[in-house]
Amino acid sequence: MENTVTVTSTDRFTATVLGLPRIGPRRELKRAVESYWAGRIDAAELDRVGRRLRVESLTAAQSAGLDSVPVGTFSLYDQMLDTAVLLGALPPRVADIADPLDRYFAAARGAEGIEPLEMTKWFDTNYHYLVPEIGPDTRFALDPAGPLRQLREALDLGIAARPVVIGPLTFLALAKGVDGVNPADRLPELIPLYRELLTRFAEAGATWVQFDEPALVRDLDATELAAARTTYTELSAAYRRPNLLVATYFGTPGPALGALAATAVDGIALDLCSGTTVSEIAELPALADKLVVAGVVDGRNIWRTDLAAAVPELDALRKTVGRPAVSTSCSLLHVPYSLAAEPDLDPVLRSWLAFGAEKIAEVRILARAVESGAEAVAAELAQARSAIESRRRDPRLHNRSVRARLAEVDGGHRAPAQRRRELQREHLRLPLLPTTTIGSYPQTSDIRAARAALRAGSITPTQYRERMRAEIADVVALQEELGLDVLVHGEPERNDMVQYFAEQLDGFAATRNGWVQSYGTRCVRPPILYGDVVRTAPMTVEWITYAQSLTDKPVKGMLTGPVTILAWSFVRDDQPLADTARQVALAIRDETVDLEAAGIRIVQVDEPALRELLPLRRADQQGYLEWAVAAFRLATSGVRDDTQIHTHLCYSEFGDIIGAIAALDADVTSVEAARSHMEILDDLTAAGYALGIGPGVYDIHSPRVPSVSEIENALREAMKAVPAERLWVNPDCGLKTRDRAEVTAALRNMVTAARSVR
Ligand code: GLN
Ligand code: ZN
Repeated sequence: MENTVTVTSTDRFTATVLGLPRIGPRRELKRAVESYWAGRIDAAELDRVGRRLRVESLTAAQSAGLDSVPVGTFSLYDQMLDTAVLLGALPPRVADIADPLDRYFAAARGAEGIEPLEMTKWFDTNYHYLVPEIGPDTRFALDPAGPLRQLREALDLGIAARPVVIGPLTFLALAKGVDGVNPADRLPELIPLYRELLTRFAEAGATWVQFDEPALVRDLDATELAAARTTYTELSAAYRRPNLLVATYFGTPGPALGALAATAVDGIALDLCSGTTVSEIAELPALADKLVVAGVVDGRNIWRTDLAAAVPELDALRKTVGRPAVSTSCSLLHVPYSLAAEPDLDPVLRSWLAFGAEKIAEVRILARAVESGAEAVAAELAQARSAIESRRRDPRLHNRSVRARLAEVDGGHRAPAQRRRELQREHLRLPLLPTTTIGSYPQTSDIRAARAALRAGSITPTQYRERMRAEIADVVALQEELGLDVLVHGEPERNDMVQYFAEQLDGFAATRNGWVQSYGTRCVRPPILYGDVVRTAPMTVEWITYAQSLTDKPVKGMLTGPVTILAWSFVRDDQPLADTARQVALAIRDETVDLEAAGIRIVQVDEPALRELLPLRRADQQGYLEWAVAAFRLATSGVRDDTQIHTHLCYSEFGDIIGAIAALDADVTSVEAARSHMEILDDLTAAGYALGIGPGVYDIHSPRVPSVSEIENALREAMKAVPAERLWVNPDCGLKTRDRAEVTAALRNMVTAARSVR
């Protein structure tokens, strides 16, 4: 069979999803991997857990009626890391580790004397992938054992398995070049490996293979477009291979769609929930003999699909490109497993939702409409419609008083920065180079145990409150003893910086088991923002004022900003995000005003997710930055000019958003800088930033305690770029993941260094 394979109608499938979650409905994989790390279970047991989870999720997907099931989206840690293994691209520093599993985890999380790979956000999601490194010594070599094993395992179970692998363009686009290597230059070396992989999949019995190329939805230059076309021309040229599906998601491929259509790939998956339109598809006659996999069920939110609205879209596709397959817009990695695990959700709210399992059911209903006509599923369409109608009419979606206040409020006016600085100098009387921290102190096992006990009902809310107050008193005493200038309460009462607020605001609902993988074994439970956001009572004032009552030094109030609250929640899709942001901003604004009235002189509004929500396409970025900045200013402009506003951003690569950071107009901004050697300061100055800045003087991500002289050097370095009058001294980020001894030693050195430089 040496000729080109093309899609015959019998090869076609109609119902699929682009990927399955892997962490386990009860986070079984997390527990197993962590037990393996702790030496409590061995590799064989870890393997058994992984296999059991795969078998369960594949068989569930097939029994739910998918006629092509993605296989290989399971991972012990991360799919980019798995791809690096597949291509022989692990960094040389782990090469000497003989055991493959130890080597894999060393690349993921480091080992004795070995730095892990960097981690960063997967496109504009809150999933983090490991960044492969491509250096002069990288010698690509195919190691397909893992993907082949998962394929065989699925085929043995009788699953209609479709192996999924990250494609070469995306792999290289997301990799980091080291020692002068440009990863894109290495593309020609990867093509033969991917061809060989296709042949191996064909030999093992796959009829379809999916290559994920989300990198194609970003802005591509002419060279990149040409590379996309060449790559898939070569991968689809005649030789023994299965049908090849190229999957794009998180946006529209735009011109890259034309490039793919011009090749002999057999199918293209398109995200019809974020930009790609049926007419765009219809304009490309070359798509007519390919399988279009229509991502009409949104894989990134938790709302029930308006099935009756999707049917005409699928009909229109059918008229232009033939029978489409129905799919989720992206992998189900980004949503919780199933509503079945949510017994306490309000039943009305629940009827509006679809998690992973329910999305698979939606795909199946739409596929039946494609196969047999809409009449065949009339009852299901009507049911979905009535749920959507009930949502639309629900009074919780529209709060008149919040909307009226937002129409009135004058968001954004404070005195010019210089004037504020003078007023604040008087009001705060801080020394030069003031020392502070980012907010959280170690979340000890005692604190977590108290929270669990409260949930379990074994301590009363009053007892819980007493424990938190004791912790706050401890943390304040520690800061007094260390001689810090601006204190914090330490955030012991917060399970999570978003969930804590979501639990207290109307318009949000929390889930019990709605876990979504964030990275490796770390999962989050994003709150569901379904209605108008209303703050019914102060959320933080009691804790912060208690801390302030224990000291004469100023205590900084600590809040999460509107953009970050949105980024880490499932947001409503029935109004522009910018409108939702204003509602959240108003709630935070009310909190800042209450803190001020209670005597708090400094308030920090954290926006670590400002960069994460930045749209992938340049053309959309300005609009986003405008509303994001406006929301922050709305949240922070209700206070007096002598009240100092701080913000914290968790990263140092500002590139595209540097202008927006200045536009936030916070009196003081703290950023990560320890690892990037203060380069950020010159960039900020060049962008005209003239407010207070606290470049992190040491890296909190590592347990290492920085020496006094090291911190002094960092400060002197910073003073070359920023006048001392505007400089603050603080760590890179919050201290919640460190232990008390490390924190005490590091902060002691930080205070000593600040004093000696003063
Ligand atoms: N104030 C928060 C803390 O210190 C900020 C966390 C963050 O930057 N992600 O934990
Ligand atoms: Zn941070």
